[in-house]
Amino acid sequence: MPLYISSGFRSYACNNAVGGAAGSRHLYGDGVDLTGSPSFCRMAQQARYHGFTNILGPGYPAHDDHTHLGNSPSQSWSAPSCGI
Ligand SMILES: [Zn+2]
Repeated sequence: MPLYISSGFRSYACNNAVGGAAGSRHLYGDGVDLTGSPSFCRMAQQARYHGFTNILGPGYPAHDDHTHLGNSPSQSWSAPSCGI
C-alpha cells in the first residue's frame, strides 16, 4: 500500500515557517508526516509495532490531520485518540 508524505526534511527556515517544534525530527531528515490512507490511527499503531521511537498523531496538538513518524534518541509517543 503506498503511503503519502506531506512533509519530510525541513531547513530551519522552513521548520520555523510551518510552526515546527524547535527540536523537530524533520530538521534531522528522519521525520515524516503521513497523510491519506490507511487511517492516521492505523499508521500510528503500525509504526509503534515496527519500532519507530517518535510517533505523534490524532489527539496530540496539531496532529489530527496527519501522523508524524521519526526516530528520536528517546521514545516519544503521543496519539491519545488512537490509544497511544
Ligand atoms: Zn511531523
